[in-house]
Amino acid sequence: MKMFSKVMTGVMFAVSIGFAGVASAKTCDLSIEGSDAMQFNKKELDASGCTEVKLTLKHAGKLPKAAMGHNWVLSAAADKAKIVDSGTKSGPAKDYAPTAPGIIAHTKLLAGGESDTITFKTDKMKKGGDYVFFCTFPGHVSMMSGKFKF
Ligand code: ZN
Repeated sequence: MKMFSKVMTGVMFAVSIGFAGVASAKTCDLSIEGSDAMQFNKKELDASGCTEVKLTLKHAGKLPKAAMGHNWVLSAAADKAKIVDSGTKSGPAKDYAPTAPGIIAHTKLLAGGESDTITFKTDKMKKGGDYVFFCTFPGHVSMMSGKFKF
């Protein structure tokens, strides 16, 4: 009986948290893969209505980071070029990490077989805005870009 009441308290707590969550926040799980063929497996991701995004990038290939590293970077379309440029300038020692203003979120640079999960809030993003995702490894952006719907 004691056990039962403990379980019930736990359930009721979870339910009340759940209701509070529906009104104020919506975390969306998104995933995307990069390949040894220098491509993302999706051209578009949709985070419409999400207050928070949990994104997983997986490198589905086998090549090392120095040859075919991939990251996932999110920004407004207008900021893309300078962010890609900042990644190139960071160089291999810093994993071509983007540093320019306007980055909304980014993963680390991955080698084949690795994955990285990031969580970010969308409170500074504008509904219907023009957002894009891309990889900042040198030369990849032309092949590895997509639309991020919000
Ligand atoms: Zn890449």
